[in-house]
Amino acid sequence: MYDILIVGGGPAGMTAALYGSRANKSVCIIEKGAFGGQITSSPRVENWPGTVQMSGSDFGNQMAEQILAAGVDVEIETVIDIRNEGAYKVVVTEDGGYHKGRAVIVATGVKHRRLCLPGEEQLIGNGVYFCAVCDGAYYKDKSVAIIGGGNSALQEAVLLSEICSKVFVIQNLPEFTGEMKLREAVMGKPNVSVKFGTVVERYITEGNKLCGLQLVESAYGVKSEISCDGVFLAVGLKPENEVFAELAELNDYGYFASGEDCLTRTPGFFVAGDCRSKNVRQLTTAVADGAVAALAACSYIDGF
Ligand SMILES: Cc1cc2nc3c(=O)[nH]c(=O)nc-3n(C[C@H](O)[C@H](O)[C@H](O)COP(=O)(O)OP(=O)(O)OC[C@H]3O[C@@H](n4cnc5c(N)ncnc54)[C@H](O)[C@@H]3O)c2cc1C
Repeated sequence: MYDILIVGGGPAGMTAALYGSRANKSVCIIEKGAFGGQITSSPRVENWPGTVQMSGSDFGNQMAEQILAAGVDVEIETVIDIRNEGAYKVVVTEDGGYHKGRAVIVATGVKHRRLCLPGEEQLIGNGVYFCAVCDGAYYKDKSVAIIGGGNSALQEAVLLSEICSKVFVIQNLPEFTGEMKLREAVMGKPNVSVKFGTVVERYITEGNKLCGLQLVESAYGVKSEISCDGVFLAVGLKPENEVFAELAELNDYGYFASGEDCLTRTPGFFVAGDCRSKNVRQLTTAVADGAVAALAACSYIDGF
């Protein structure tokens, strides 16, 4: 039996592991893929305080090295269920195994929705991105397209219009769904061109470099092409928290409805990082949650 089991080896989960282990708790972290989480898709991280620049995979690797050195056990498994047995929890994995822990921290992050077009996986982090705040600066004075029409897409359009020479916004619906103020801000930008009722049909590449998009107008099926150097997908985020819904309340969007304290309605069950309800999903906020959740788990175990 571990003191703390952590589900998800992204920045939030690994920070929780570090804090738990430094508080002399036995800690095991269970990750279904590669340690590091979403950030491993980013070629450059430039907003991690104290480091001018590093790749997302270096960031993930360094965190993984740090938790291994701190004595954290790691398992590569997919968690499919967590059972509450009162004094301890049972974390069930896809291969039929299980682990027991006095406290559990879920830090399963989010998945950015994708267009699921051919070649997309290879382009992610290399022409196709999810975060203008993080990656927009690489497209200074270049042409980019934003896919989506909600608040995130509009915020990204405003930001990118101040960096890039040309910004296309491709929205499948006949109008934006984001806030009116943001719509007005986007429509007032001289270098932004909006295509409503239009979907992306294909990424156009030269070699392995993105150079444009093939579009199709939904109503009449008219096809067209645009040239662009980068694409930012803002078609929604997808938490995968349903399997844990018995232990913690989910909000309308599927995020854990927990606050900055990372607590849930189940004693000994904590949530951290992008998987919980919050306004800003970044490395800094994820690692902050990891620390808060781990210290809350330690207090729970120690009976404070
Ligand atoms: C391309 C890209 C670039 C970005 N660039 C920046 C940037 O420059 N600066 C910045 O601050 N932020 C950036 N972000 C955002 C940042 O990466 C996230 O905010 C941060 O990774 C959230 O950390 P997390 O640990 O909460 O979740 P995640 O990073 O999503 O990690 C969750 C982990 O849980 C694992 N997991 C999920 N379900 C299970 C399960 N059932 N069983 C076991 N394991 C599971 C996943 O495999 C994953 O490894 C970027 C995001 C992307 C996608």
